[in-house]
Amino acid sequence: MDTKLLPASPENIQLAASLLRQGEVVGLPTETVYGLAANALDPDAVARIFAAKGRPQDNPLIVHIARIEQLEQLTHPPKLARKLADAFWPGPMTMVLPRRSVIPGCVAAGLDTVGIRMPSHPVAKAVIEAAGCPLAAPSANRSGSPSPTTAAHVLADMDGRIPLILDGGNCEVGVESTVILVLEDRVRLLRPGGITLSQLESICPVEMDEGVLHQIEPGQKVASPGMKYRHYAPSAKVVLVEGSAEEFASFMEAHQGEGVFAMVSREEADVLPCPTVPFGHRGDPASQAQELFSALRACDEKGAQTVYVRISGRKGIGLAIYNRLLRAAAFQVIRL
Ligand code: AMP
Ligand code: MG
Repeated sequence: MDTKLLPASPENIQLAASLLRQGEVVGLPTETVYGLAANALDPDAVARIFAAKGRPQDNPLIVHIARIEQLEQLTHPPKLARKLADAFWPGPMTMVLPRRSVIPGCVAAGLDTVGIRMPSHPVAKAVIEAAGCPLAAPSANRSGSPSPTTAAHVLADMDGRIPLILDGGNCEVGVESTVILVLEDRVRLLRPGGITLSQLESICPVEMDEGVLHQIEPGQKVASPGMKYRHYAPSAKVVLVEGSAEEFASFMEAHQGEGVFAMVSREEADVLPCPTVPFGHRGDPASQAQELFSALRACDEKGAQTVYVRISGRKGIGLAIYNRLLRAAAFQVIRL
């Protein structure tokens, strides 16, 4: 299959919508990461997403909507879900809610819930409107590799597998949506993301699922199936290092070698004695989130074999960065 990479112009948005109505899969930008979209109400179209990604069948997809009425049409939302939608939609929050039967079982990997989100990216919104149906859309990477935050990343993973990628530039948030299970009076955080813990806590109590910071044992029941897979990982071996910038500099001094890189903020990279892959700015986790996945991809482009990443905090969107890096590192953490 020939894969077209086109700017997200009004004509190309119409082209994407018509492909989606025919049951095809299209790569498109959202404010979090690029998505691999298909008509969420068409099981054959949804099957094409799983095939293009090589995604395990038991990992459910998030359904993207453009209008608040669709929340009621596709799910049974408790009152709290409406309150959260008012506060954070359109935006990077996915609510896991009881699913109505119009959503095919394959979207939800057989669960009786579905993850639903209203994205704020103008291209994502326009494509959903033009297609006239909700879109199931996981991140547009091959399963296991870092999520794509540019159209070029999508092309690198999906060339020959899908007919069209819309280019909408770099993603603003850079990490995926916050996934929450919505209960009557509280929520459970399943995956940290663009909407932070304290933003959620301004609306209702939040309990943190064990899978956010801890490794799932083989066979253990999980609230969010995506959490049990090795994920977001480049081919290089990733190891997390917790310590101050000074401790990290001495650690790198002692661990220099062929193919050994450090992944840190631009400011810290400048003073390290080894090759580096910089991401974002010191003390600015939003900029680090934006560049996290392209930095993980750059590790492979630069021929890194081992990458030490300094963890500089878990506050705000830093929790999402830590959660993704833990999985990229298969939970290998060195504490200095
Ligand atoms: P991705 O679309 O690649 O960002 O991954 C979606 C994430 O949301 C995965 O971690 C899924 O396991 C999670 N998810 C989607 N639907 C559900 C659901 N119904 N229940 C629990 N987790 C879900
Ligand atoms: Mg993903």
